[in-house]
Amino acid sequence: MTDSMIDVLIVGAGPYGLSVAAHLRELDVPTRVIGTPMRFWDANMPAGMFLKSEPFASNVGSPAPGAAFTDYAPGWRSGRPIPNGMFVAYGRWFAERRVPHTEAAEVVDVEHAGGAGYTVTLSTGETVAARAVVIAVGVGGFAHVPDELAGLPAELASHSVAHRDLDRFAGQTVAVVGAGQSALETAVLLADAGARPHLLARTGELAWNAVPQPDLSRTGLLMRGPRSGLGRGWRTWVWAERPWAARLLPDGARQRVVAGTLPPAGSWWLRDRLDDRVGLTLGRRLAAASAQDGRAVVSTLDQVGSTHRFEADHVIAATGFVCDLDRIAILSPEIRHGLRRRHASPALDTAFQSSLPGLYFAGFTAAATFGPVMRFVHGSGFAGRRVARHIARHIARNRRSGPPPLPAAVERSGQERSGAASR
Ligand SMILES: Cc1cc2nc3c(=O)[nH]c(=O)nc-3n(C[C@H](O)[C@H](O)[C@H](O)COP(=O)(O)OP(=O)(O)OC[C@H]3O[C@@H](n4cnc5c(N)ncnc54)[C@H](O)[C@@H]3O)c2cc1C
Repeated sequence: MTDSMIDVLIVGAGPYGLSVAAHLRELDVPTRVIGTPMRFWDANMPAGMFLKSEPFASNVGSPAPGAAFTDYAPGWRSGRPIPNGMFVAYGRWFAERRVPHTEAAEVVDVEHAGGAGYTVTLSTGETVAARAVVIAVGVGGFAHVPDELAGLPAELASHSVAHRDLDRFAGQTVAVVGAGQSALETAVLLADAGARPHLLARTGELAWNAVPQPDLSRTGLLMRGPRSGLGRGWRTWVWAERPWAARLLPDGARQRVVAGTLPPAGSWWLRDRLDDRVGLTLGRRLAAASAQDGRAVVSTLDQVGSTHRFEADHVIAATGFVCDLDRIAILSPEIRHGLRRRHASPALDTAFQSSLPGLYFAGFTAAATFGPVMRFVHGSGFAGRRVARHIARHIARNRRSGPPPLPAAVERSGQERSGAASR
């Protein structure tokens, strides 16, 4: 027995969940959105962080004009980095206008109710029957910590995503593993907080993105390619602006595109802030790590195979995220084991629907199908549009052909939430 029914339930209220919800609302599809808007950006990004994406590439996808980042912050130009706090405020402003019905709860379980839909349990204890479920849980559950750090206890090692507030490291030596934006910015913010950060990276040289140049001459444009939500260049433009093309690639080629587009690099505006307060050890691979006398000892290997030791009070792995369906613990084992996979991600059709009808994945988990833009806010419009149109068509068809197929356990009378609740 479930407590209520709804056509669509969206898990997560980050840019992707909000975009799908805004598009569904436009199509009058009764929807519930479970999650606090922009919670991940608010709680899991370090204070003082700036976005790497340009303002025009930081829009939560909306079906109608008037909800872009620059509608929230008129005059905010390309080349002016967006503070994280402002982006959180923009996402919440978007939610108030386009998705005013988000619910500050958590989804704790999603079960398949046969051909009829899904039974979703919320942290409030409520169970909901939903014809369709959209999983838009972001990257937070997929933090990747290299195996070589496994020997360290939790108090000596963490992932960058665990730190909103870096002040607790003031006065401490902190090894930061990685060479991407997250590693470089974490190191700079640690230095700002009075810590002694030290970057440990495999790469022999740090890479930096160029200062954006929105206006190129005609020749420059032909040579360097157009600007896109993922950067400049012809191929980059395709993956950013035509994500459906990535789905058409052979599997191996698509994987290379996902892994190779936007390789680790720091933003142009961060370069000057990475000064001699940050120690650098480049060209070294992690070998092992252990705890000794309450400190972390990290062994690294250089290019000729010699071992080096680095001692720190704490190690922060800014080593990114790896999608793994088995880590989406809210999905029942039956769902997880039953889904067709593309490597460790769900295999999705043209509408982001998994091999289980009515179960959709948007955002990071869709990158194995639609390519690298799904890892960024910029892909949220494409995902929102496709998911919503498919659901609307699907549900409309069910309605025309008689009563919608409801989960057997649901008593329909008086229990279905009014669609108005979601508008
Ligand atoms: C340090 C860092 C910097 C980044 N900078 C940029 C950038 O500058 N530009 C850019 O485009 N991208 C950036 N990204 C990538 C960014 O994560 C994605 O672009 C963006 O968050 C995608 O939106 P989303 O909705 O898929 O995920 P999220 O924003 O993570 O939203 C998912 C939401 O779902 C919620 N949720 C999870 N599980 C549940 C549950 N069971 N019940 C209810 N709610 C749940 C989470 O709390 C979260 O709020 C950055 C990522 C990191 C880690």
